[in-house]
Amino acid sequence: MTQLYAEVRAPGSVIFPGDEEWDQARLAWNLAVDQRPAAVAVPRTAEEVAAVVRWAAASGLRVAAQGTGHNAAALGDLAGAVLVKLHELRGVTVDPETRTARAAAGTIWIEVVEAAAEHGLAALAGSSPDVGVVGYVLGGGVSFLARKYGLAANQATAIEVVTADGELRRVDRENDPDLFWALRGGGGAFGVVTAVELNLLPIESVYAGHLWFPVERATEVLRAWRDWTETVPEEVTSVGRILQLPPLPDIPEPVRGKSFAVVQAVYTGDDVASMDRLLAPLRALGPGMDTFSVMPMRELSHLHMDPEHPVPGAGDGGMLDALPDEAIDAFVGGVVGKPILGAEIRHLGGAVARPRPEHGAVSAFAAPYLTFVVGIAPTEAAKAAVHAAVGAVLGSLDPWRSEHTYLNFAETRREAGTLWTEAAHHRLRRIKRAVDPGDLFRSNHPL
Ligand SMILES: Cc1cc2nc3c(=O)[nH]c(=O)nc-3n(C[C@H](O)[C@H](O)[C@H](O)COP(=O)(O)OP(=O)(O)OC[C@H]3O[C@@H](n4cnc5c(N)ncnc54)[C@H](O)[C@@H]3O)c2cc1C
Repeated sequence: MTQLYAEVRAPGSVIFPGDEEWDQARLAWNLAVDQRPAAVAVPRTAEEVAAVVRWAAASGLRVAAQGTGHNAAALGDLAGAVLVKLHELRGVTVDPETRTARAAAGTIWIEVVEAAAEHGLAALAGSSPDVGVVGYVLGGGVSFLARKYGLAANQATAIEVVTADGELRRVDRENDPDLFWALRGGGGAFGVVTAVELNLLPIESVYAGHLWFPVERATEVLRAWRDWTETVPEEVTSVGRILQLPPLPDIPEPVRGKSFAVVQAVYTGDDVASMDRLLAPLRALGPGMDTFSVMPMRELSHLHMDPEHPVPGAGDGGMLDALPDEAIDAFVGGVVGKPILGAEIRHLGGAVARPRPEHGAVSAFAAPYLTFVVGIAPTEAAKAAVHAAVGAVLGSLDPWRSEHTYLNFAETRREAGTLWTEAAHHRLRRIKRAVDPGDLFRSNHPL
């Protein structure tokens, strides 16, 4: 169906309610989110993105960009907005000379990881192979190399973006440095990004794995892991987790239908023996399974065992200023036996905690720990139960919760003042007024 809004004919990539493809087009990666925008656009080129932006502006519609829909839950009501889905605008090229990758807006992380690995290079990818490169970078980007190399947003060297005037711009340190700064951590409120360029690192493999313990030992294991995080060098980025795995066929037999306390760690240094020495006190606890091995970067993309296809989920996260025994007790008590699939605490610090003048809007996190709690939500009733359980866990951590949260781990609406420092928020609002005075663009976490 071709519709006319404000006398401007919609570009061919726009799909409307009632069109045959409508229900497929409006799906997000998170299948628990029922997206009902005014229209969906699926552009294949940056020029088509610009045409959609111009059409939306002329038609009185707002524009919300979406790479995959991993963070669709935070978007909220899309009435009056065209959802610009970028999965057809795809592709990655790697330049081994400059050690950079260029990823088009719809590219997912595994595509960059694999292309970089061909040249013995690595990117600061997140835990999930199918998270979108652009959404992750716009929000900050916490990888398993984060303590050594900082946030992924600060490895961006250039960003291509269609702004509210319908122009495609390439911004970097020399060209529109203000907008380049805002896009590195300020989220999707400034335009539709069509591509990013990122620095790559000369890393071919890491030493990484899990130590699996019965969930009954969660308090003891997480306390030992917390003590351990206070001793490890920046080459080690680790996660303390509780996994309560359902009896589903795509979960491997040894862990299917069982619950565990898990320590996951990634070592980026050269001296594997020194990591073995570091791991000794955790191994002395007697894990039921020890999966540490030297693994190529491709394999690291699957370490966290995130779902690699769309699923219905409900989750939320926050950052913690401290992790005393009482916080671990609250975390374990709130998670075990509740409708929660996975609850994790990631160790930050190191390079993540060091702001630098050349960084973007999200420069560093002072909080030493980051938490995320998630459950499976295939029905409205399940979603309500998971939301209640996740809210209760995060609420029980309030005494230690940082005043700031991490945009990418926030799956509910937050006060903008909690997503950025006061100075960064102020500067972001000034840039937003300059580049998008009519507030055309709607992001998952508005300013
Ligand atoms: C299973 C899972 C694992 C994860 N693991 C990690 C992890 O290890 N580390 C980490 O830091 N985060 C992680 N995340 C969080 C993830 O980084 C965020 O959900 C991020 O927003 C996903 O980006 P996306 O493009 O895939 O999602 P989307 O929902 O498509 O995008 C999120 C938002 O980004 C903006 N956006 C996306 N694309 C564009 C564009 N082209 N132009 C303008 N704005 C755009 C929009 O505001 C959009 O609402 C994980 C999430 C999940 C569900």
